[in-house]
Amino acid sequence: MSSYASRIMDLVVKRNPAEPEFAQAVKEVLDSLGPVLERHPKYEKHLILERLIEPERVVMFRVPWTDEQGNDRINRGFRIEFNSAIGPYKGGLRFHPTVHLGVLKFLAFEQIFKNALTTLPMGGGKGGSDFDPKGKSDVEVMRFCQSFMTELQRYIGDNVDVPAGDIGVGGREIGFLFGQYKRIRNEFSGAITGKGFNWGGSYIRPEATGYGATYFAQNMLESRGDSLQGKICTVSGSGNVAQYTVEKVTQLGGKCVSLSDSNGTIYDPDGISEEKLHYVMELKNVRRGRIREYVEAFPTAVYKEGVRPWGIRCDCAFPSATQNEINGEDAKMLLDNGCFVVTEGANMPTDPDGVRLFLERKILYGPGKAANAGGVAVSGLEMAQNAQHIYWPREEVDRRLQEIMRAIYTSVSDTAKEYGCPGNLVMGANITGFVKVANAMLDQGLV
Ligand code: NDP
Repeated sequence: MSSYASRIMDLVVKRNPAEPEFAQAVKEVLDSLGPVLERHPKYEKHLILERLIEPERVVMFRVPWTDEQGNDRINRGFRIEFNSAIGPYKGGLRFHPTVHLGVLKFLAFEQIFKNALTTLPMGGGKGGSDFDPKGKSDVEVMRFCQSFMTELQRYIGDNVDVPAGDIGVGGREIGFLFGQYKRIRNEFSGAITGKGFNWGGSYIRPEATGYGATYFAQNMLESRGDSLQGKICTVSGSGNVAQYTVEKVTQLGGKCVSLSDSNGTIYDPDGISEEKLHYVMELKNVRRGRIREYVEAFPTAVYKEGVRPWGIRCDCAFPSATQNEINGEDAKMLLDNGCFVVTEGANMPTDPDGVRLFLERKILYGPGKAANAGGVAVSGLEMAQNAQHIYWPREEVDRRLQEIMRAIYTSVSDTAKEYGCPGNLVMGANITGFVKVANAMLDQGLV
């Protein structure tokens, strides 16, 4: 790490002692920036790193709501408006009991660089709450979302800050949030993405992160004259990203053999076919059940309680659940079992020990901020359609998504080559995103 970056890292740790995930995300970026900081002293002269590590605005608020039994309940709400150098703040909302300020700051920080890679004009933001939608009735989720939006609506808008979904925030929650936004602001605008198709949503937005991650894997494989055809793939998570990863990998000839949730993993050696995936979608999105129920419907599969999928032999792994779900030991297991492609659908799913191993072994490793950028990219396309008051057909959005994922792959791999580390897409993604945002900040003066 350069001396400038190292000074900034010390500052981040000192100023944010209770935010290890934020420090981890900043370190991963700073570790990559040595050559670019050395080549362009203007970034240090104009304090670009000092500015980048401080959010432009952090909003924290109380979210009061009443449960079905009539009890008063209180949760915490957050919105981090991290950087608007290249466009309005953009990033999802996460509802999960593990949410705290440091987690959302890490996600918003990552989002700055990810959004810069998409080729679209979007700044970085993220938000959410420690509210847990699991086990809550639809009415309770609606009351919570309405209360959350009653406060959040003060800070967002289609040219200001445009939230979307993330863990625990799917179509149902976006509907309730949008309804309350529209009611209070008395406007039908594109201030939230991931909307239902009948009311301003885009085709392919639900599919976009999983499809995009799969297209990214395909681009990496093509660079070695290979493809997904016949590849055994492990997928973690069983939510939005995991489901559409399984769908697209299967369509492209791969075989997905696992899914998981925070309780355990299912292993289906026969592969999760289209029919089995429909069962999973009904189980998770409608009945809101647990992944263990899969083995009751498909008894040739096995369920392993308390285990993640990384001990299963595979060619390609698609971590699609949450941060730090692959540690050094998991990474070693994957590599020992012959895995040579890791494509991150989730944000920062691999811890620093795991990342080091993947880079040392020179496998095809697609870091989250490049590989999972398809979700926010199609959110950007939803904003574009809303601004024009039109809908693009499904094929059009899918074609644009494929073009964007190819452009991201090409730019990050070209940058890695330019800076002397061919194949290191972590470095390629961090430098490409940084240069775009840093130059915009220089152009706009000291703000
Ligand atoms: P969902 O809420 O739809 O699904 C999340 C899945 O991950 C569930 O199966 C959940 O299991 C599991 N999970 C969540 N937290 C944990 C945990 N602490 N330990 C183990 N498993 C966990 O979320 P998404 O699919 O939307 O998001 C998955 C990942 O993809 C996240 O990292 C998110 O930031 C990232 N991402 C999502 C985008 C999107 O468009 N949705 C865009 C880009 C990235 P359980 O039900 O037990 O909680």
